[in-house]
Amino acid sequence: MPPAQKHPDKNAPIISKLLLGWYDRNARELPWRIGPHSAIEPDPYHVWLSEIMLQQTTVAAVKPYFTNFLGRWPTVQTLARASNEDVMAAWAGLGYYARARNLHRCAIYVTNELGGEFPRTESELLKLPGVGAYTAAAIAAIAFGERAVVVDANVERVVARLFAVEAPLPSAKKAITKLADTITPETRAGDFAQAMMDLGATVCTSKSPQCLICPLTETCAARKLGIASDLPRKVLTKSKPQKQGWAWWIEQGGNVFLVRRPDKGMLGGMAAFPGSEWSGDALPRLGKEAVDTGSYVQHSFTHFDLKLHIARVEGAAEVGDGWWFPVANLDEAGLPTLFKKVANEMKNKA
Ligand code: SF4
Repeated sequence: MPPAQKHPDKNAPIISKLLLGWYDRNARELPWRIGPHSAIEPDPYHVWLSEIMLQQTTVAAVKPYFTNFLGRWPTVQTLARASNEDVMAAWAGLGYYARARNLHRCAIYVTNELGGEFPRTESELLKLPGVGAYTAAAIAAIAFGERAVVVDANVERVVARLFAVEAPLPSAKKAITKLADTITPETRAGDFAQAMMDLGATVCTSKSPQCLICPLTETCAARKLGIASDLPRKVLTKSKPQKQGWAWWIEQGGNVFLVRRPDKGMLGGMAAFPGSEWSGDALPRLGKEAVDTGSYVQHSFTHFDLKLHIARVEGAAEVGDGWWFPVANLDEAGLPTLFKKVANEMKNKA
């Protein structure tokens, strides 16, 4: 294996200059973005909302949610006044639901404790609910122009290649952040962060980096070594555990019974069909009032894969607290993707 390469320091200003020049010509148009050299200041509420939504989620998936949230709650104060149920329902389908709970908590905190103003520094932003190191750096740089080192998965890939970092992720994260620090400019920090993200998303892509059209090609160690598409290396992860469980379909007079999942745990606070625990052991036995429909849905969570079997429960008493919802309108029930799959499966069966 070739040794890890380090850029000479003299390359740092060249890299940021080349990249910012490229960004001026090629910045992606995104609903939450103020383009380079705009006279308009970025709105910290928009930056914060988009960065929370973009955590582990694609730009394409986030766009309609961002537009919908801004349409319903145009300011942090209006979001703070929304009910938690409405926020969770509007988030349904975007995944990682702890983000939605923290989003609402954060909006309430910023409104009630900070007079509706987001903090301007990375260290103060880090104190907000749901704001971790990456998000604090991104908001500080993009919303307030503070020099902050912003390293998401796209940036990680670009930096690993620029410096030919051979150590595998995740252990190489710290070293990559230090290297990113060496090329982050003092000015236009927000544009630089977004330029790195755009380069990673459109040119320095995971499977086929387009080095021929890359603005950084002359300074890129991995390109020179011919190992660009092999980086970043990753430690092989074990396959995910499998779990299974039941969803109860309890239908009466064109309505189906829904519950709200406990705040703590998977899909916490979301609307759901009632059902059994999910476990890696044998599927729990069905009670005599429940009939296996033979249908199931599969869903992949970050740490496990789930096979959720569907049982029809006839004439049963309601299962805990919940509410009846028209089967025909289940699209509007605020169900997360797993339970949307259950609803679609049962609608297709009808
Ligand atoms: Fe990525 Fe190739 Fe550009 Fe290097 S030259 S940053 S590998 S696209």
